[in-house]
Amino acid sequence: MKKGIHAQIYQDAKTTCVSCGAVYRIPTTVKQQQVEVCANCHPVYTGEYRGIISSGRVDRFRKLQAVSKQKKEAEAKKPARKPRVKKAK
Ligand SMILES: [Zn+2]
Repeated sequence: MKKGIHAQIYQDAKTTCVSCGAVYRIPTTVKQQQVEVCANCHPVYTGEYRGIISSGRVDRFRKLQAVSKQKKEAEAKKPARKPRVKKAK
């Protein structure tokens, strides 16, 4: 191997699955890393769907959607406002 051009490889690097907590010791170029899904918990391998913990745009969108829905429902429950009537002096 030519010196000075290859990344350092950590042979006992720790890879943690965020969804199921499985820990793998796989050689990588970083000491620690996290994955959202792994072979232990991926629906293709398990045959069942479980909510995958993700912290991305989709997750944020779903939160906003839920809040919006709640607001709409609260608005629908409110009685209609009475029109303002000016008091006679
Ligand atoms: Zn997993």
